[in-house]
Amino acid sequence: MNEKHTPLSQLGEFALIKELTQDFKLQQESTIKGVGDDAAVMDYKDMQTVLSTDLLIEGIHFDLSYCPLKHLGYKAVVVNLSDIYAMNAEPKQITVSIAVSNRFSVEALKELYEGIKLACEFYQVDLVGGDTTSSLKGLIISVTAIGQGKKDELVYRNGAQVGDFICVSGDLGAAYMGLQLLNREKQVFLENPNMQPQLGEHQFLVGKQLKPEARKDIVAYLKEYNIKPSAMIDVSDGLSSELLHLCTQSNVGCLIYEANVPVHNDTYNQSLEFNIDPITCALSGGEDYELLFTLSPEEEAKLNTEEIDIAVIGKIVEKDKSCLLQSRANHLHKLTAQGWNSFKE
Ligand code: ADP
Ligand code: MG
Repeated sequence: MNEKHTPLSQLGEFALIKELTQDFKLQQESTIKGVGDDAAVMDYKDMQTVLSTDLLIEGIHFDLSYCPLKHLGYKAVVVNLSDIYAMNAEPKQITVSIAVSNRFSVEALKELYEGIKLACEFYQVDLVGGDTTSSLKGLIISVTAIGQGKKDELVYRNGAQVGDFICVSGDLGAAYMGLQLLNREKQVFLENPNMQPQLGEHQFLVGKQLKPEARKDIVAYLKEYNIKPSAMIDVSDGLSSELLHLCTQSNVGCLIYEANVPVHNDTYNQSLEFNIDPITCALSGGEDYELLFTLSPEEEAKLNTEEIDIAVIGKIVEKDKSCLLQSRANHLHKLTAQGWNSFKE
């Protein structure tokens, strides 16, 4: 961590933009013009353009008391790329806009951009623009991701058919457990600032919260085996909420088996310690950034779940059968969206 504290006012807007963006190298052939003109220019030739944007507000979406700025920068990019992958498309460029109060130093913003740069390098996307302005209080970040896909390869939320298998990548609920742990440590710290956070043994869960990854590898795997999902969505607000979106838009119902929902051992053990049913973490925790998709029986037959961390967790049924979870004890429960809601009290 850089200990210097250069006030933003010392640089001025243009010098600041230069300072923040000069180390970014353009990697994509489709980027014709990046940062520096009135607008960026891209050429996708015969591909369709996919675009997604997110707005992150300090105190609502992130808490700088436990989220280092570098991680925040990385995560802000990753959550956007996840939306592009959820269309079965490839992200190519991003723009990043920030509003900052004078509480932040040039060095702090450089930390943020260090994380943004790491994500750009790892996912091979170009930073091609943004906007920089001041805020009265706190930090606001908006990231827009732009990607491309062939028209017949893009996958929407509305394509699921009765009889399709429901699949999810990775495991669920870990990021939510990570957040609970960070919150607990923060409370301890607020009560006694001499207490240092005890997070070492919880690296997996805390890592899932602070440094999530988008499932670029899953999209690549599906492409490699020529498997095309009928519908897809990324899991940002919890499995339940995303299943309901997918089913509503596809005009179908679903049946999910609790026993098939992937939950990591650490998530399982930690949720018991917090007195939360592990399946509740998977259904209603958020920020997993896994991919939830449906496959027709022909497509599902091409899937080898020994080879990749994709689990088949249920099937699509008629709409009038509604959206249900079959518990390990064989009871049926209606899925409800307790997903993360930015307007809840
Ligand atoms: P304008 O006044 O026309 O909005 P700016 O001075 O805001 O132009 O931006 C100049 C260039 O720097 C543009 O290419 C813009 O996209 C880019 N830019 C501005 N702020 C950021 C930022 N925070 N991150 C990345 N690029 C930025
Ligand atoms: Mg501007």
